[in-house]
Amino acid sequence: MTMLQTDSQGHLRHFLNFDDLSYQHLISIMDTAESFVGITKRSIKKVPLLRGHTIVNLFFEPSTRTLTTFELAAKRLSADVLNFHPKTSATKKGESLLDTLHTIEAMQCDMFIVRHADSGAAHFIAQHTHPDVSVINAGDGSHAHPTQAMLDMFTIRHHKTDFTKLSVAIVGDVLHSRVARSQIHALNLLQTGEIRVIAPKTLLSNHIKTLGVEVYHNLEQGIKDVDVIIMLRLQKERMQGALLPSENEYFQLYGLTANKLKLAKPDVIVMHPGPINRGVEMDSIVADGPHSVILQQVSYGIAIRMAVMSMILTPPQSQ
Ligand code: ASP
Repeated sequence: MTMLQTDSQGHLRHFLNFDDLSYQHLISIMDTAESFVGITKRSIKKVPLLRGHTIVNLFFEPSTRTLTTFELAAKRLSADVLNFHPKTSATKKGESLLDTLHTIEAMQCDMFIVRHADSGAAHFIAQHTHPDVSVINAGDGSHAHPTQAMLDMFTIRHHKTDFTKLSVAIVGDVLHSRVARSQIHALNLLQTGEIRVIAPKTLLSNHIKTLGVEVYHNLEQGIKDVDVIIMLRLQKERMQGALLPSENEYFQLYGLTANKLKLAKPDVIVMHPGPINRGVEMDSIVADGPHSVILQQVSYGIAIRMAVMSMILTPPQSQ
């Protein structure tokens, strides 16, 4: 997997996770996204940057926000977009992942956006696809979701500017969350002052401390004086066995309420990658309240995805 994502000059070829990326890569993605935020506010929300390129959304797992924002991002860059729906395709008839891949490749596409329930699926496709085709990981199992993490970093940067002075708390099902893994990686690359994870012991892996985070099992202690709170969805589809007593008890202990929120800094921002389980991870009054930037995350997702797609398909020498 070494240097699969970048070429010899350090330009992005694929975007699979943060493994071989640097601080500067993350800054470049966010700076590029900045220029696209304005486009989404114009009456004609389109630039010709990727005219003539074909981008295929290859989603083997359901998605709302990620799929629609990737599609919109590609269309706003004037690319041709194909949404491949495995449920209605030959994968249901037993066609292997590689056969499916090569079939779509034969249609001369330039980029696959891959969502898959298996960790490592996007890497696998990047390793086996035609050298001219790039791959963006749109979430693989519990492994990584790098564009989600980038839109989260972008949202934080809009509100807080200096990462080195920030205290960020990630709350909930860290064990199964590809979003949390990517966020921790990105926050570390951006030299974030303090990263806290807050979860019951059953929803944390044993090696969590090796990721450079402070671990808390108590929500009130964990969110004290933080600048950013990122709530995670309980990934019930990935839980094997009873890891939680009940949703009600989980909410009592780890659900974010307006009262608990008062323990954080007065200008704290509250984030969630969606979809939210209201009344389980947080109260509606918090999700829709003045500290919430959850819908802004969705909007910034378009600009971040435009940035990553355009950086990969139009590297500097051809811009
Ligand atoms: N939408 C995010 C993901 O695909 C978060 C979630 O589903 O909880 O990982």
